[in-house]
Amino acid sequence: MLKDQLEDVEARIQAACRRAGRSRDEVTLIAVSKTKPVETLREAYDLGVRVFGENKVQELTAKYEALPDDIHWHMIGHLQTNKVKYIIDKVDLIHSVDSLKLAETIEKEAEKHALTADILVEVNVAQEESKFGLKTEEVIPFIEKISGFSHVNVRGLMTIAPFVENPEENRSIFADLHQLSVDISNKNIDNVNVSILSMGMTNDYEIAIEEGATMVRVGTGIFGARNYSV
Ligand SMILES: *Cc1c(COP(=O)(O)O)cnc(C)c1O
Repeated sequence: MLKDQLEDVEARIQAACRRAGRSRDEVTLIAVSKTKPVETLREAYDLGVRVFGENKVQELTAKYEALPDDIHWHMIGHLQTNKVKYIIDKVDLIHSVDSLKLAETIEKEAEKHALTADILVEVNVAQEESKFGLKTEEVIPFIEKISGFSHVNVRGLMTIAPFVENPEENRSIFADLHQLSVDISNKNIDNVNVSILSMGMTNDYEIAIEEGATMVRVGTGIFGARNYSV
């Protein structure tokens, strides 16, 4: 079951890359394992999955302790400043940086661990009230501010598109995030290389890849529906 779903997602990623004239290795699949038990992650690991995405600090650290250390962990959910210290040395990438206060905390904690934290700036492209993330017009001033941090590396942008029936409706959102990354690149800000575009989830990752996604975050499509009541 998990094997079939993984193969299906992989085939769809390959097809989307072909349609877009892109190479498969330009796109990283992040298996979003939130709410799933460690045994399920181990099953995915045994099938070759090495990149997992989690959205809660406590869940991420528990799974980190329980699973092999060649896994790459990505923090994809909203992050409170007081919890940065628990994950700073455990994750490859923080996708959800959306405030100066959070960036400053990451800088401080990364310095304590003598490391440089790779981060993405979360952008609320669709301007949904319910979502975290900066407004599009806030992104360049924000990146200019944090570009001087010595322990934070801005590696790209992330967005969560709205839930829509027809994923085509999100195409312009992905195109807008892509364009924003081009605009930022053209500014040649020191220490900033926005080459990562984290966009696309189960419903719309194929469209996101066609529009330039370099990371897709797929949960349900790999692991099946989540049960939040357990
Ligand atoms: C849960 C989650 C996903 C995965 O969602 P699916 O629709 O199950 O693929 C992707 N990104 C973020 C930020 C999430 O919280």
